[in-house]
Amino acid sequence: MLFLLSSVVSATSVRALVSIDDEGAHLVDAVVVEQDPRAPRGGPGLGEFLFVDSANGPVRFTEVPDPRHRSVVGEHDAVVLERAHALVWLEWPDDARELRLGEDTLVPRSPPPAEAVQESGPTDERLDMVFLGDGYTADELDTFAEDVDRITEHMLSIEPYGAYPEVFNVWRVDQASEDSGVSHYEGSSQVERDTAYGCFYGCGGISRLICCDDDLVLNEVLDEVPGADGVMVLINDPMYGGAGGFEYATSYTEDPTGSQVAVHELGHSLVGLWDEYSYGQAWNQGPEAPNCTREDEPPWTQWLGEDGVDAFVPCSYTNYERPTEGDCMMNTLRDDYCPVCREQAVLAIYGALPGLVVDSWGGEGSFGVELIHPDLDVTWTLGDEVVGSGTEITLDPCVETTLIAAVSDPTEWVRADPDGLLSEEVTWSVECSAVKPAPDPDPTKPDCGCASTRTVPLLWGLAALAALVRRRLH
Ligand SMILES: [Zn+2]
Repeated sequence: MLFLLSSVVSATSVRALVSIDDEGAHLVDAVVVEQDPRAPRGGPGLGEFLFVDSANGPVRFTEVPDPRHRSVVGEHDAVVLERAHALVWLEWPDDARELRLGEDTLVPRSPPPAEAVQESGPTDERLDMVFLGDGYTADELDTFAEDVDRITEHMLSIEPYGAYPEVFNVWRVDQASEDSGVSHYEGSSQVERDTAYGCFYGCGGISRLICCDDDLVLNEVLDEVPGADGVMVLINDPMYGGAGGFEYATSYTEDPTGSQVAVHELGHSLVGLWDEYSYGQAWNQGPEAPNCTREDEPPWTQWLGEDGVDAFVPCSYTNYERPTEGDCMMNTLRDDYCPVCREQAVLAIYGALPGLVVDSWGGEGSFGVELIHPDLDVTWTLGDEVVGSGTEITLDPCVETTLIAAVSDPTEWVRADPDGLLSEEVTWSVECSAVKPAPDPDPTKPDCGCASTRTVPLLWGLAALAALVRRRLH
């Protein structure tokens, strides 16, 4: 995972990830970043120095501020934690080669490029899935690419994801590991491997639970796809396992169960669902999930009686209820969600998008909307009258009233949408000028004399609000 000198000479700065504990500061990672170094933040220093060595010795040093110090709201002494991490930006001189901190030395690595597996649009207008791979050597990166393709294809074959392929961007970060396979810390079986993200079986004492070095995973994602909505770390190891954290998910990849595990784990990290099987214990104080409830009346009343939906114990905990007997991938390995979880997955997809309408315009008697994906209904209403459908409309003749484009997803998979994620309206206030058309009217345009103002939904943001102008036509 280290890169040669030639890969860093053009860099402007290096961002070091430093971990600090009672024994001092440790270099965890160092990444070349094409931006000016950020000034160090204040606070008491550790007295440790970062040395940047050229062949002839140190060329620069920087003090590391101690990130363990936390100030407390109100009058109180500052608190010093046992361990913390800091990001330190360093200007990287042309002749520098290594970064040193105490006993640790690293050659800063260039972040590998994020390859677009599927790019449907700009990241702020799409649901961006990022795949990292751990335990893939440089020779095995082709296998990683195949695993990402296969698991992406599997994900997009499942309802509801498959109904919305246009809203997904999928990225792959080709970061090689020194060793093939990942570490195993399961009871007496202790195998340690040098991998890109430090993933390991045996997390929390559970042999099939795979965790990684969170800092390395999240640091990489921030570098590559800052707008990531879902993160999956694929594990190049034949042993069954995975984990669905809320920051990122992990999964082994063996076909076909690896693909099923991956999509199950995305149910946790992308949708916020819980396991519908039993952990063998009750939990009385905890929160609830959309598919696991302690309430007498479950939050999925809109689905009761549909496709076997009722309320069955347990759901993760023995005192929680799940929607179906066993017809859901959150319960057993299978390729479909129950109706309750599928509804939540649709809401999660829309929750990751900026809205249904990407752009809208009006003028010259014509009005239109650009949609986030093609399978949306648009109903145009002028005053109280429905006057059209589709993404564009032309008014002839002009009528001074309110024009509304009501956009919605007609899917039958969502019956409860408390936040209104599946519907949106764009409103124009149409005004017809009292003054007749200009002396030299264009005969090809309708004799309208329209002017319009556009009322922009709150979601629209400042840029669009700034464009809120009254226009005179003709
Ligand atoms: Zn379910």
